[in-house]
Amino acid sequence: MACHDGAVTHGSRVSRRIASIAESATLAVDAKAKALKAAGEPVVGFGAGEPDFPTPTHVVEAAVAACRDSVNHRYSPTAGLPELRRAIADKTARDSGYAVVPSQILVTNGGKHAVYNTFQTLLDPGDEVLLPAPYWTTYPEAIALAGGQTVVLPTTVQQGFRVTVDQLEAARTPNTKVLLFVSPSNPTGAVYPPEEVEAIGRWAVEHGIWVVTDEIYEHLTFGAHVFTSMPAVVPALADRCVVLNGVAKTYAMTGWRVGWMIGPEDVITAATNLQSHSTSNVANVAQRAALAAVAGDLDAVAMMRDAFERRGKLMHSLLTGIPGVVCAEPEGAFYCFPSFEGVLGRTFGGVTVNTTLELADVLLDQAQVAIVPGEAFGAPGYARLSFALGDDDLGLGVGRIADFLS
Ligand code: PMP
Repeated sequence: MACHDGAVTHGSRVSRRIASIAESATLAVDAKAKALKAAGEPVVGFGAGEPDFPTPTHVVEAAVAACRDSVNHRYSPTAGLPELRRAIADKTARDSGYAVVPSQILVTNGGKHAVYNTFQTLLDPGDEVLLPAPYWTTYPEAIALAGGQTVVLPTTVQQGFRVTVDQLEAARTPNTKVLLFVSPSNPTGAVYPPEEVEAIGRWAVEHGIWVVTDEIYEHLTFGAHVFTSMPAVVPALADRCVVLNGVAKTYAMTGWRVGWMIGPEDVITAATNLQSHSTSNVANVAQRAALAAVAGDLDAVAMMRDAFERRGKLMHSLLTGIPGVVCAEPEGAFYCFPSFEGVLGRTFGGVTVNTTLELADVLLDQAQVAIVPGEAFGAPGYARLSFALGDDDLGLGVGRIADFLS
């Protein structure tokens, strides 16, 4: 390509690797809804994947104290404050029954950064990652950025959005390196029963496949559904397992940006080297806040969990009352993931809606409700609605959808 001054340059302005990344659909919907709200529009936003509660007071106080202590004004070890890595190891034993040592832990800038570091560390070009769909929108982008190939395994509302060992086995090839597993799931709210977690873990061990298991919603399970940590029920998996987690969802700390990855020491050392050349240590003040959170009790999350369970039931019953909408009752996390297939093909306010992408646009423009279309999660025909918002807004927003579709 010739520049205007006649010099010759190569390629495009933005690298192919980065140009191929899609904007995060969930953050985009949330940003659009927040901008409309700021402009005075009475938008109800079901887009955000974050608790609406404030961070617990004792956590905020720990951060305030940390600001005043000059030791926190300096660089600290890339892998995380030693006290925090110790506390994460203790918390993992307490909550998951999985025994790890601090050298198996890397503290990252949120769970998302742990996802990125993990795939950068595990994948070579051409390695295949089995990804059950509907999937959280960040996984395939992080896999692609690491040169990996995503192999999507679709699941349906009828199978409870849970992948089976038969499906995994049918998709396995000599290039299969990793299975991405998440329970409770974003976006479906599905929780795998312990025996299915164990069966999948055993299958992975048998075939030497790594499991990257995202446990960020571990404390948000409802009714009889319980969280099960795969390496705890299949200890033989530990040498080929990376656990992803963080404080965002459990302690209402999305803005503090503290997550972590837990894995075999060689993988953690390699990922720490990568992080030492990218972001270095996570902000010390945020780490001190995370330390207060994970070393403390689970009272705040118990209160939030109860509220989410109640709201999830409410949203589920309101959505299933809308003709053409099919919705499984959420088992965990804070999302409903209904199918809108029964309303596609209809015309609303002069606009024919053939896809959930179009439905989300029309709902925002004409009914002032923000939902995230299933296309963002590899599941066209569905949409994700977060119930991490107040009861009044929840009723108002789903009511608007019902009125609009009736
Ligand atoms: N994993 C899953 C499944 C998530 O839903 C999220 C947040 N949407 C994350 C990881 C990352 O959370 P954070 O980066 O805010 O810690």
